[in-house]
Amino acid sequence: MGIQLTINPIKSWLPTIDNPLLISGPCSIESEEQAIETAKLLAKDKRVFVYRGGLWKPRTRPGSFEGVGSIGLKWLQQVKKETGLPVGTEVANAQHTEEALNAGIDVLWIGARSTASPFVVQEIADVLKGSNAVVMVKNPVNPDVQLWMGALERVNRAGINNLVAIHRGFTPFRDTEYRNYPSWKTVIELRRLLPNLPIISDPSHIAGKREFLFKISQKAFDMGLDGLMIESHIDPSCALSDKDQQVTPDELSAILDRLVIRNESTSNPQFENQLDMLRSRIDAIDTELLEMLASRMEIVQKIGTYKKENNVTALQINRWSELMNNRVKTGKELQLNETFVKILFQLIHEDSVRMQTEIMD
Ligand code: PEP
Ligand code: MN
Repeated sequence: MGIQLTINPIKSWLPTIDNPLLISGPCSIESEEQAIETAKLLAKDKRVFVYRGGLWKPRTRPGSFEGVGSIGLKWLQQVKKETGLPVGTEVANAQHTEEALNAGIDVLWIGARSTASPFVVQEIADVLKGSNAVVMVKNPVNPDVQLWMGALERVNRAGINNLVAIHRGFTPFRDTEYRNYPSWKTVIELRRLLPNLPIISDPSHIAGKREFLFKISQKAFDMGLDGLMIESHIDPSCALSDKDQQVTPDELSAILDRLVIRNESTSNPQFENQLDMLRSRIDAIDTELLEMLASRMEIVQKIGTYKKENNVTALQINRWSELMNNRVKTGKELQLNETFVKILFQLIHEDSVRMQTEIMD
C-alpha cells in the first residue's frame, strides 16, 4: 500500500537548525531546579536544539516514579523562557495532550507503549486537530512497521505536518547487551515507505546504559538518520528514572565531539563519479546473482519433476544439512559472514521446497 503523507522538513519549524536535530534533557522532570539547571548547562552547547523532559512517565511496572505530572508544565515554560530552547514532553492520553498544548509546549511525543495502541494514538490525534505543534512518534515496542506508520498516519490525518519518527529500539525476547534492540531494517523500511519523513534515533532507550550511547549514535548517523534524542541529567546518579542511561550535559558534549556526521551526498564530482562507477558494478553483479538464482531454480524444478515421477519427497533432510554445512564452509573461505550465508540459504532452500511441493500437488 503506497501512501503519501504531507510532511514538513525540520527546517520549516526549526529555522535555526543546523543539522542534525539534537534533543536532550532529563528522562523525567523531577523539580523546577533540576529542570532549569540541566537546561542551562545544555543550552551552552549550541548543538542542542530542543529540550526534552518527561512529565507523565509510562512505567512498565507500577510502584516506581510516575512523573511530577501537570505541575511540571510551568517548569518547562520557564526552561523555554530562560534558555530560548523549544521544549518537548511525552503525551499518553487526551488530557496530557490538551494540557501540553494549552501550556504552549512546542514538541509532543508519543511513547513506544502508546504507539502500540491505535486507540490511544487516535485519542491523542483527535486533540491535536488544529494545532501546529511538532509531533514525534516513537516506534511501537514491537518491530511492526505498519503499526508505527499507522500511528504517524493518524497524527498526520489530524492535520499535523510537523512530524518526526523516533527509533528507540524494540523489546528483546531474551537478555541482550541493550535494553531495547535496535532494528535498523525496520527504520530503513519506514524510510522507504515515507521518504520525506525525518527520522531520529533515541540511543538512550536503545542502550539502557550510557557507555553504549556513542556507538548507537554513530550507527544512527551512519544510517543517515536526521538526529538524536539523548537523555541528560544534572546528576544522573540521583535520577528518579533511567539513571544508568543518562549523562551529564558535559558528557553529552563529549559524545557529540566524537561523532562523525555523514552527509547523504557531497558536491565533490570526483566522489560522485567514483560512487557511480562502483554502483554500476553492484547493479551488474546483482543482475548476475538473479540470473544465477533463476538457473538454480530451473534445476530445482527439474529435480522436482524427477522426484515426483519416482515418488520421492520434496524435502530430504540429510541432503539439506549437508548442503548447509558445505555452503557455510565455502562462505567462510570467502570471508562471508556465517549468519548471512545461513539466512541466505535458508531462504533459497525454502523457496526450492515450495517450488517442488507445488510441482507435486
Ligand atoms: C522516554 O522518552 O522517557 C520514554 C519513556 O520513552 P519510550 O516511550 O521510548 O520508552
Ligand atoms: Mn527515559
